[in-house]
Amino acid sequence: MTTRYRVEYALKTHRRDQFIEWTKALLAVPFVLYSQPHGVFEDPDSSADTLSQTREEAHRRYSEIFRDIEAMIDDHIAHQNDAENPFPSKLKLLVPSVGPFFTRLPLEAAFKFQDNKRYISSRRFVSPSFNDIRLILNSAQIMAVTTYGTLQLATFDGDVTLYDDGQSLEPTSPVIPRLMDLLRKNVKIGIVTAAGYTTADRYYDRLHGLLDAMANSADLTPAQKQSLVVMGGEANYLFEFDSSSPHLLAPVPRQHWLTPEMATWDERDIAQLLDVAEAALRDCIKTLNLPATLMRKDRAVGIIPVSPEIRIPRESLEETVLLVQKILELSAVGRSRRVPFCAFNGGRDVFVDIGDKSWGVTVCQRWFSQKEGSHGVIKGENTLHVGDQFLSAGANDFRARSVGTTAWIASPAETVELLDELAELMGKMS
Ligand code: IMP
Ligand code: MG
Repeated sequence: MTTRYRVEYALKTHRRDQFIEWTKALLAVPFVLYSQPHGVFEDPDSSADTLSQTREEAHRRYSEIFRDIEAMIDDHIAHQNDAENPFPSKLKLLVPSVGPFFTRLPLEAAFKFQDNKRYISSRRFVSPSFNDIRLILNSAQIMAVTTYGTLQLATFDGDVTLYDDGQSLEPTSPVIPRLMDLLRKNVKIGIVTAAGYTTADRYYDRLHGLLDAMANSADLTPAQKQSLVVMGGEANYLFEFDSSSPHLLAPVPRQHWLTPEMATWDERDIAQLLDVAEAALRDCIKTLNLPATLMRKDRAVGIIPVSPEIRIPRESLEETVLLVQKILELSAVGRSRRVPFCAFNGGRDVFVDIGDKSWGVTVCQRWFSQKEGSHGVIKGENTLHVGDQFLSAGANDFRARSVGTTAWIASPAETVELLDELAELMGKMS
């Protein structure tokens, strides 16, 4: 996972993790001042007492910090909702990269939940970590979408989120029954993946476990079966579940789902943008001597390893993304900003796609809203996007943050845990 070690960048503007690092620093203070690592040398009887006292004290202090941050986020939300107020919130001043929030975040409750699971307050040698905080934020977010509002749409990234990188959703995957459960609860599902294929058979290959389970399900209603779409190539190909189609997915023609802004994207600009990206990627292959080949598609261009067992170093992948992104931004077609794009490090490869997941998730929101008729558009606070790419260069799942709430997972196993938490909370609410 990308948080294991850090790469230093010449350009820091894309760093997404400031809020988590800032929270970590706040928690490090009570950890350093009050944790009692020497407790392990004491005699066993008094050591048990000290441990439980330390645990209680640490728990109380960490809880207080999360409660204070929660209040700061409330204040930040009040600022963002007040168009008359020209001043930044306190949180914005302290963490300049912080963006808008769709919901308040019950951080204290989320901390207590994760502390019960991860024994954060019982640790004497390892302070609250980046991962602890990432998981606390996820819990807070799913508590929020089930408590303060109603979750209407859950969107999922593919690789690393639903299945291991480059693999498929096999029938035995524990994610499948959890997704079926969401459909049964009338939550809409969008699989918003960067993987860009023009035909249904390729998506069937990747998602067959889920698609077959849906087709064979006796208890999902026809409307619930219609509540799954696949949005491929970030925001380029839409398919809806269809039991009668050969690969259980029916392609939806672009004119049926493009947003008005997307409809203005000109094919010539798209081709020009991909040409510039292609030239930059070819250059990187040469200058960094990458064991990679170029792959040009209808709506994307990328580099992939020359053979599946080869791994391109992470530093080379990150360098390629940042370089290609800069070249694109400075090119004539990039400067015109007529067509958005997303250059990202996929873990083993680098791709430049037309559009990004914020557009992909927006299309899902509109698609299902339009199907429901008069209920109005599914909003950001009713949407949860689950993905793994929030930190590496390009971070394609991070883009969804601008149109909905998000959860940042690090493996399909974490997605399963998250969905179990969600199911429990939804069960309590119903
Ligand atoms: P995601 O995690 O589901 O968003 O999928 C990202 C991965 O899909 C990339 O790392 C690539 O390995 C793969 N992929 C296949 N085709 C494309 C494409 O056209 N654009 C971007 N990624 C693609
Ligand atoms: Mg992914």
